[in-house]
Amino acid sequence: MYDAIVVGGRCGGAATAMLLARQGHKVLIVDQAKLPSDVRLSTHLIWHAGVDLLHKWGLLDAVKATNCPLLTSFSLDLGELVLRGQPPGTTVGAAIGPRRLALDKVLLDAALTAGAELRQGVTFEDVLKDGDRVTGIRGRLQDGSAFTAHARIVVGADGTHSRVARAVGAESYNEFPKEAGSYNLYSYFRGVELDGVEFFSRPERMIYAWETNDGRSVIGVIQPGRASRPAREDMGAHFQSELATLAPGLAARVQAGQRDDEWLSGAIGAFCRQAAGPGWCLVGDAGVTMDPITAAGISNALRDAELAATLIHEGLQGPASLDDSLATYQARRDAVSVPLQQFAQEMAKLAPPTEDVIKLFMALAGNQEQIDNYYGVFGQTVTPMAFFDPTNMARIFAPA
Ligand SMILES: Cc1cc2nc3c(=O)[nH]c(=O)nc-3n(C[C@H](O)[C@H](O)[C@H](O)COP(=O)(O)OP(=O)(O)OC[C@H]3O[C@@H](n4cnc5c(N)ncnc54)[C@H](O)[C@@H]3O)c2cc1C
Repeated sequence: MYDAIVVGGRCGGAATAMLLARQGHKVLIVDQAKLPSDVRLSTHLIWHAGVDLLHKWGLLDAVKATNCPLLTSFSLDLGELVLRGQPPGTTVGAAIGPRRLALDKVLLDAALTAGAELRQGVTFEDVLKDGDRVTGIRGRLQDGSAFTAHARIVVGADGTHSRVARAVGAESYNEFPKEAGSYNLYSYFRGVELDGVEFFSRPERMIYAWETNDGRSVIGVIQPGRASRPAREDMGAHFQSELATLAPGLAARVQAGQRDDEWLSGAIGAFCRQAAGPGWCLVGDAGVTMDPITAAGISNALRDAELAATLIHEGLQGPASLDDSLATYQARRDAVSVPLQQFAQEMAKLAPPTEDVIKLFMALAGNQEQIDNYYGVFGQTVTPMAFFDPTNMARIFAPA
């Protein structure tokens, strides 16, 4: 009998397991994958709020030690205007872009060091129940044999296609199909000189570049999910021609380097799911999947992990029950995640800027405090509500 079973051992799951195990709880992590392993569909950027959590948990040095630099310079090239700034209100004052092989391993090692157990090669199939209360999991090992384990709570950290969410019947809301979101085409490069995190906003496109581990950079082009996509054999030519036309300076730097991985591409639907019920809760993408255009998913997963682990700990300790303790989870998660999800979804349309948006960017020029606040929306240190609040808009437009 475990206190908690966590299904999924990557950023959301490993962090939740670590935080629970550090508080003395008996935790089992199961994952169908062999860990550590890479996640191919990810561009790895962890913004400031996520970096601050890694720092708070004492893990940032271990992530940096995977030969992954802190990223402290940020630029958004809007064509006629380049905004450079830093999210305010952070402890570390940096982002970081570790490959998932590196990040997930640091988190998982920390969970195991704290006393969590790991069973790999276990595919979760269903929950065990006593009435309507989840009491454990049923799964299958790689040799086909059955696996069962019991716990006071089952945490679904099994990603966007969460089978835990399906098994418990978690309701979905704020759903957006992938055609309403963005489509991302990217690869890894060596020998490309970058100035920290670079974004190039162009009509119906967003181009981005930043360093990951071992001097390799991830560089990509994002287009609307509704637009036609290149066939696999045309991806390289498509990427080169987009860069050459839309960001020729970056294209020249990419030409000077070498691509050292295959072309990767993807688009995902976005949604929120009911966060908790009797004996279960969801963290990370299983609970809220956002369009990747704002690179918010890992930071969200880490933040969910901290909130869920705090509430689970309170519920396991008593006097409040687990159900009472988790009753506030969805509202507290959504208060932060839903505005970020909506901001990402709006941005993912890659619609031509309206007059108001153009006026806003023009008004931001030269106003460093407000440029920093705008970066804070990405860094998750300023809420979209605070930045786009009419009072703040008036402050931005007044001097302009
Ligand atoms: C193209 C793209 C680019 C992205 N770029 C960024 C970025 O730059 N920055 C950022 O912050 N986010 C980015 N994201 C989002 C980010 O990858 C996710 O938010 C993050 O991986 C969520 O972590 P997680 O731990 O919740 O789930 P996952 O990382 O998906 O991990 C889920 C785990 O559950 C396991 N699992 C699944 N089903 C089962 C089962 N039935 N039984 C047992 N185990 C199971 C899997 O094996 C896996 O290990 C991107 C996403 C996409 C699609």
